[in-house]
Amino acid sequence: MTREYTPDELLPLSGIQHFLFCRRQWALIHIEMQWQDNALTVEGKQLHERVDDPFFVETRRDVIISRSVPVASYTLGLSGICDVVEFTSSTEGIRLPGREGFYRPTPIEYKRGHPKRDPVDEAQLCAQAICLEEMLAIDIPFGYLYYGETRRREPVTFTRELRQLVYQAATEMHAYMARGYTPRVKVSKACRSCSLAAICLPNLQEKTSSVKTYIRQQIEQA
Ligand code: SF4
Repeated sequence: MTREYTPDELLPLSGIQHFLFCRRQWALIHIEMQWQDNALTVEGKQLHERVDDPFFVETRRDVIISRSVPVASYTLGLSGICDVVEFTSSTEGIRLPGREGFYRPTPIEYKRGHPKRDPVDEAQLCAQAICLEEMLAIDIPFGYLYYGETRRREPVTFTRELRQLVYQAATEMHAYMARGYTPRVKVSKACRSCSLAAICLPNLQEKTSSVKTYIRQQIEQA
């Protein structure tokens, strides 16, 4: 039977990309509350600032474009914001307040850079779609990732495998959070573009699993 989380237990949906990129990075940010901007995250923020315009709704022909849409899923235990949800006129869609006809929702996520080899962005978009499905009681078969570097929309099909990846990641995130567990450093090529490398990698020599422990040791030694 699928478990349902309570509102107090919801974790940030955007964390799923950190978790799939590196579980330690996710734990440092979401359990230990460590964060350090690097050029990549600043660039990403600037791109999102152009997208984030709360309460903005635009209509183009038979498409209603809604930005910064809050979403939540109690089966995933995640909540967050969709950059954009497009509602396209369709007889298979849902009714929208104050609008004639029926509309199908499609989530669109904006990313800096270009498509990645691992499905971290796809998983984040799929988690948004699962939230919308739960909230609107409709199936959402696909969405789009828009990349700042290529300036192209890439279609993403929400396959069973991708949905399983999202549910598995969300379950693990909740298990780590419940234990307050930060995995040890496991250096990989991901570390080269990691915004937390300067905080995380000094621990390599210390062989400790917690940044808090590292900082405490530094203070004690000062
Ligand atoms: S530096 Fe490497 S191990 Fe540490 S959080 Fe970043 S990606 Fe993970």
